[in-house]
Amino acid sequence: MYRTHTCGELRMEQVGQEVTLAGWIQTVRKFGSINFFDLRDRYGITQLLFGENLNPKLDAQPLGREFVVQVTGVVTERSSKNKNIPTGDIEITVTDFKVLNAAKTPPFTIQDDTDGGDELRMKYRFLDLRRNIVRQNLELRYQVGRAARNYLHSAGFIDVETPFLINSTPEGARDFVVPSRMNPNQFYGLPQSPQTFKQLLMVSGYDRYYQIVKCFRDEDLRADRQPEFTQIDCEMSFVEQEDILSTFEHMLKHIFMEIKGIEFTEAFPRMTWAEAMEFYGNDKPDIRFEMKLVNLNDTVKAKGFKVFDDAELVVAVNAKGCSEYTRKQLDELTEWVKRPQIGMSGLVYVKYNTDGSLKSSVDKFFDEEQLKLWAQQCKAEPGDLILVLAGKEERTRKAASELRLEMGERLGLRNKNEFKPLWVVDFPLFEYAEEENRWVARHHPFTSPKPEHISLMDDPSQYGNILANAYDIVLNGTEVGGGSIRIFQRDLQQKMFAALGMSKEEAERKFGFLLGAFEYGAPPHGGIAFGFDRLCSLLGGSESIRDFIAFPKNNSGRDVMLDAPSEIDQAQLNELRISLVKE
Ligand code: ASP
Repeated sequence: MYRTHTCGELRMEQVGQEVTLAGWIQTVRKFGSINFFDLRDRYGITQLLFGENLNPKLDAQPLGREFVVQVTGVVTERSSKNKNIPTGDIEITVTDFKVLNAAKTPPFTIQDDTDGGDELRMKYRFLDLRRNIVRQNLELRYQVGRAARNYLHSAGFIDVETPFLINSTPEGARDFVVPSRMNPNQFYGLPQSPQTFKQLLMVSGYDRYYQIVKCFRDEDLRADRQPEFTQIDCEMSFVEQEDILSTFEHMLKHIFMEIKGIEFTEAFPRMTWAEAMEFYGNDKPDIRFEMKLVNLNDTVKAKGFKVFDDAELVVAVNAKGCSEYTRKQLDELTEWVKRPQIGMSGLVYVKYNTDGSLKSSVDKFFDEEQLKLWAQQCKAEPGDLILVLAGKEERTRKAASELRLEMGERLGLRNKNEFKPLWVVDFPLFEYAEEENRWVARHHPFTSPKPEHISLMDDPSQYGNILANAYDIVLNGTEVGGGSIRIFQRDLQQKMFAALGMSKEEAERKFGFLLGAFEYGAPPHGGIAFGFDRLCSLLGGSESIRDFIAFPKNNSGRDVMLDAPSEIDQAQLNELRISLVKE
């Protein structure tokens, strides 16, 4: 037996006992002829005291950081206790030790506040994973997965694995492809999600399916994405939208209770996509704070201010309690909205001073009476600062949404320990892709229109008005899941493919299996998938999903530890009948 206890286990109750521990040397301290070592494993840290008697052995076998050792000794009460760690009342008076494996000095300190930079830590991820905070993230991930599984199991779902080597799945991103040696010149696609498989499982009668599964999308990795990520993927038969929302709201509530001890007694709020766009400027509203967008179009036009008169949208954000903003702060905010990422040409402000007077950057065009109207519309009170953006509709809405979030951040209203989930429902079925000059599915092509909008599918001029039975679950301004009620009739699915500009032949070639399956008794069905990495990072209070993935890739999609992707041997290429185009 290598050990009798772990390094996180011993307390005053064990004082006097002889124990054997095994682990890594975290720190080395010398006090005269006595040596103190901290021994670490997954469970904690225990202080070891090596008395003078062990010095000859230590001289012969010095212990350095990260050495793997086995020690035997007696649990002793410490004279100076460390209240910061659970084992802080005791130490081990070591009687003997054995080096199980020596270690090179690690390239960074294995501590919470390590001196290692990102790149270095990723290169030596196996050392990074030894750090407490990284380990806690992975433990949290495990617990979230376990809570989800427990809930789904108790609700009668079964976990069915689906293949990775498949054809393309059209979820909107590019596929990763894998050449097939046995089928020369042919390629598998890696699934962007198990979407079509879970639908086929419904046709097969497995009416409650789930899987915690890897998905692969070859996207540019802006904003904290990973080329391979994990979903909690679910599907149900004989359900309507309401059944799905209720089932998975319960799952999330269960997860919140298990992981954070937070009980949601009320139903999660719901908002239509149209409301989300109007009041928050995006489809994943952060409802931890108000400051909703206010459309001022009807109030501000035709007063001689060209910027507003020419604008498609004039929209305001009421920054609560910011009327004292200085000239400098306002200039800085104006620069902020002018950054290319935000893309506005300027910022208009109205200070609602605490004495009740109103002062704006457009006093030339709007008198105090008029500014009062704006203030009323924005539900502004003395002490508030109204920020107004104007310009092309889409860009202005997006900018206002960013400005709202930025002000929320600056005002400390986006507390990461506060959790505000909501459902966004009634998404449009289609969206117009300007670059491609065609309609694309907003969710994916298997999403059903609202029954009352099915007839509009025959009239392309109506595509923009069709709403879908699709929904997203949003947490603190981040989409953590989304799904839909599916099309389950061949005719309607064919109509959908046609609307997306797919010829009959192409639809048959790509999705013949699904269309065919719909002719053999497909039940009504629907589902949802949660971004598991993202959910974990939010529950763990972190911005980055990478912190919750054991072996993540960097922003260029590289695994810097493995140095992947990499070139392959000519022999392998020959077998695959692939010749490379040299750049
Ligand atoms: N497959 C979808 C996705 O990955 C989720 C779903 O519709 O269930 O977004």
